[in-house]
Amino acid sequence: KSYKLYFKSIFTPITLLGFLVLLGLAEADNILYGRVLGFWTTGKYSEDTAIIVSGALAVGVIIFYAAKNLIWVQLALNGSQRIHDEMIDKIVRSPTEFFDINPVGRILNRFSNDLGIMDRLLMQAIFEVLEGIFYFTAIFITIWLANPLVMAPGVGAALLYYFITRISVKPIKVLKALELVTRSPIYSQISLTLSGLIAIRSFHQVDTFIKEFNKLLNNHAKAAYYYWTMQRFLGFYVDFVSSLYIISGVTLINFARSEDSAPGLTAYGITLLLTLSEYLQWILRQTISADMFMASFSRANNYTKLPSEADAELPSDKKYLNESWPQHGQVDFNNVYMKYRQTTEHIIKGLDLHINPGEKIGCVGRTGAGKSSILQILFRMVEIDKSQPEQLDSTVLIDGVDISTLGLHLLRNSISIIPQSPVVFTGSIKRNLDPFEKINEDVLWEVLNEVGLKPYIEKLDEKLNTDMTNASSVFSVGQKQLICLARAILRKNKILVLDEATANVDFETDNFIQRKIFEKFHDCTIF
Ligand code: ATP
Ligand code: MG
Repeated sequence: KSYKLYFKSIFTPITLLGFLVLLGLAEADNILYGRVLGFWTTGKYSEDTAIIVSGALAVGVIIFYAAKNLIWVQLALNGSQRIHDEMIDKIVRSPTEFFDINPVGRILNRFSNDLGIMDRLLMQAIFEVLEGIFYFTAIFITIWLANPLVMAPGVGAALLYYFITRISVKPIKVLKALELVTRSPIYSQISLTLSGLIAIRSFHQVDTFIKEFNKLLNNHAKAAYYYWTMQRFLGFYVDFVSSLYIISGVTLINFARSEDSAPGLTAYGITLLLTLSEYLQWILRQTISADMFMASFSRANNYTKLPSEADAELPSDKKYLNESWPQHGQVDFNNVYMKYRQTTEHIIKGLDLHINPGEKIGCVGRTGAGKSSILQILFRMVEIDKSQPEQLDSTVLIDGVDISTLGLHLLRNSISIIPQSPVVFTGSIKRNLDPFEKINEDVLWEVLNEVGLKPYIEKLDEKLNTDMTNASSVFSVGQKQLICLARAILRKNKILVLDEATANVDFETDNFIQRKIFEKFHDCTIF
């Protein structure tokens, strides 16, 4: 099934047909070239004809081989590029649930490791296998023409090949998986050690960590060693069977030769038989590898089928944008139910709220009571539950508009949030404050002045263009929170949401932020 999907992602029916024909032509030309050389030596052709025909065939071989390689690389790369683009499209539109369930490391792995395998290894393995199938067909036809008897030991050899591969495929796959599984802990251990270097040294734990690292390395080495042993096992026995086949084949060709069989063809058959062993081992290994690498394709391909959240933009949004909705900031919750997963209990059960424009609302409750969950509903990070009959009238309204009828961009743009731990993005300070570059720089400075960051940022070398990618080396947590505050002030939204915005800052900054919010957002609805 994966193979079918894989070929579908690369070929249209027409390009597939064209490609297979090209592969066939290339091998036919290759074999024919060898035959003509044979004719030449037996004097069947005149010197001139032989030179011209074999020359033309040789040029043909070059052209066909180059063409099939180039076309394959181009098509396969296009295919994985398309899959990559679809994956990105789906990931950025995934609901938050997806990111709750999947650690970021796993997602990165799909994009780096799995796509890497598709681009380099899978593509090559599949190509070699395809090429191999055509090559062997060509060889066998020639040998069959030379002497049909040779096919008899061939059947025996094929059965043995099948048996050997059957034995070794499973361990090879399992060991490869084991090799991959034991590899990632090494990487995590390294990054963990590097980030904790100071603590490790000050507590004299260097030896413990070296031991731990060696243990992980050993585990991986064991798996890798057995994997390669298994590969060699396969290689050795395939070689062994091939040798038996070649010996019996060559013997048969020689002894069962009748008076009228062409010596050129016989010699050519023997030559081809001799190349068989090495090549066959290689192709069998490639077949198994292709099978293993296919798992990467399946995983990547699954990402192209992820469910998306609701539409980011809807045609009806224009109307609200034009009347700069929401102008007042009135919020209504009617009989709202919400659960994070289909399978879990409701977290919010029948919430009814009416909030007047400009009201300041404090949510009080134990930890885990569902305060942050209310905010999730407001942003539609999680959709409210309407599955039961008694929930049919469940709605959340902002200024009388049911938010489930809005495009997500419009909704999320119209509510400002200052989260618990400040969120800064990679890029410059300027881009953090004004990602869409719509605001005049003077205004930015004015707002930075209001939140008390102006003197500090003026002292930085690159001022507003200072890179925030490594923000913790430039800003303290409190200062980052002030950047978020500045961002919220610039957005000028009617609704502001603070989720324990000052939990991580000192008393003074806390006071300052509270005062600023009171000053700047006095006519806004604040949660
Ligand atoms: P705190 O004061 O600690 O911030 P809170 O009142 O904000 O608590 P919520 O974060 O709303 O509490 O959590 C309410 C319940 O929802 C908790 O029982 C929690 O287990 C569950 N919950 C919160 N976020 C998720 C999530 N992303 N996926 C699944 N369950 C969640
Ligand atoms: Mg919370």
